[in-house]
Amino acid sequence: MAESTDDRMQKIVSLCKRRGFVFQSSEIYGGLRSAYDYGPMGVELKRNLMNEWWRSMVHSREDIVGLDASIIMHSDVWKNSGHLANFSDPLVDCKVCGERFRADKAPKAEPGSPVVMTMADKGRAKAALEKVQALHEGAPEDIKRDGKTLVGATVAERGYVCTNCSSPFLSEERQFNLMFRTSLGPVDPVAAVIDTVKAAVAAGDDEKAVRAKVEATMDDSSVYLRPETAQAMFVNFLNVQQSTGMKVPFGIAQMGKSFRNEVKVEHFIFRSCEFEQMEMEYFVEPGEGPKMLQYWKDARLNWWKSLGIREENLRLREHEEDEQAHYSDGCYDVEYAFPWGWDELEGIASRTDYDLNAHSTGSGKKLQYFDPQKQDPETGKNGWRYLPHVIEPAAGATRGLLAVLCDAYDEEPGDADGKGARTVLRLHPRLAPIKVAVLPLVKKDGMPELAREIVQKFYAAGINAKLDEQHAIGKRYARHDEIGTPYAITVDNDTLQDGSVTLRMRDDRSQKRIPLTTAVDVVTQALSQA
Ligand SMILES: [Zn+2]
Repeated sequence: MAESTDDRMQKIVSLCKRRGFVFQSSEIYGGLRSAYDYGPMGVELKRNLMNEWWRSMVHSREDIVGLDASIIMHSDVWKNSGHLANFSDPLVDCKVCGERFRADKAPKAEPGSPVVMTMADKGRAKAALEKVQALHEGAPEDIKRDGKTLVGATVAERGYVCTNCSSPFLSEERQFNLMFRTSLGPVDPVAAVIDTVKAAVAAGDDEKAVRAKVEATMDDSSVYLRPETAQAMFVNFLNVQQSTGMKVPFGIAQMGKSFRNEVKVEHFIFRSCEFEQMEMEYFVEPGEGPKMLQYWKDARLNWWKSLGIREENLRLREHEEDEQAHYSDGCYDVEYAFPWGWDELEGIASRTDYDLNAHSTGSGKKLQYFDPQKQDPETGKNGWRYLPHVIEPAAGATRGLLAVLCDAYDEEPGDADGKGARTVLRLHPRLAPIKVAVLPLVKKDGMPELAREIVQKFYAAGINAKLDEQHAIGKRYARHDEIGTPYAITVDNDTLQDGSVTLRMRDDRSQKRIPLTTAVDVVTQALSQA
């Protein structure tokens, strides 16, 4: 029987809470919308995923170095990157279905032309009929229901309709800034705003003029939480290049938190206001962008595969021309088949010299690279000074974690009576929060003490092991299957006699006896081969 998307997602969300991967933020106070906390298992999984990224990007390559920049940056960074303008989107609410959408992304339609509004089902169409008849400016009987559609309304003056139901009954457009604004400095901006408003009102300004003056006053102290990590790599281009002597082509990599006041938060941690990114800016000679884009799109897809994510659940999608930013000359998404459908894990974009150019112009500092070995193609003289072009693989760490969880989640039905049924997270061993569980069969006869000694040996080898002595052994195996622990070592009566332990494998539940003295080596080897 096919499982519905909601069921599967619900099961994963529920496992995340039950086993300490992800909690709703501030849950005891009713929860904060779209904010999540990573619990004891979640923090390990997230760090392991991000460490894998760092290992592949920075610690396995000669041509990429790291950066960890401040989350709050000079507001001119966002002015010149275009975020301050582009992040203020005109938003509209549909009065019929409640959908909130960007006016500039809505389907265009000729004012006065008839529209067919489509509801999710007949019941909803019936419910919407009266509402639409009341909103309609002409006679109520103009609006008729046909199945799940409503006909008789016409497109209003503004020339677009609801992205969801095609309703022309929409709220006013409102500005909505996707960046989180705060203020920097000890001066209270509220006092300055009050003074500004008083003066503007006294001068008889209308509402729009008052707002413009308030904005100008707030600009003096306003700073923003970064909506992406990328800009710090551009503005530090010269610092990094000059301090390391890196030669083009080279990259700067950064992982960290970013913040967006999303219009629409959805799918658990997939789209949340606070999230983590893994971004790399790769600087190349002018003209080399398209070639390097091809290289990086494959490299990035392969990296996701190397984490054990099933190939059939990953794909590359090339952006249509109208999806691309005006300065971009090529873009691919790595997509994952989430329970709700294909969605983006990572974008790999060729950004030309747009960013370095924008910050060179904005700051007055030339963010150029000088290559003494090359000839300047314009003058033919030795030595070429140019603005590097950029390829940017930008991955979502938190949505990557969700993809990893979705891909690893598995249920085994057991036998005809359901005996042996289990839920198991088939996480790649390098990603698993706990690598090995050490389980004394019973809490006596010196077994817990011996188990504790084994755990210490794993710690000394840098392997995250966990002693677990609560509940019956079967329950403990089940618990570790659910958090994805790939190996379990059980200390039992035989261990006390002959020094052997049971090594149990998560994926096929197979067990074998191994000498206690080899336990660390066996697991270390298994991890390195995984
Ligand atoms: Zn609508």
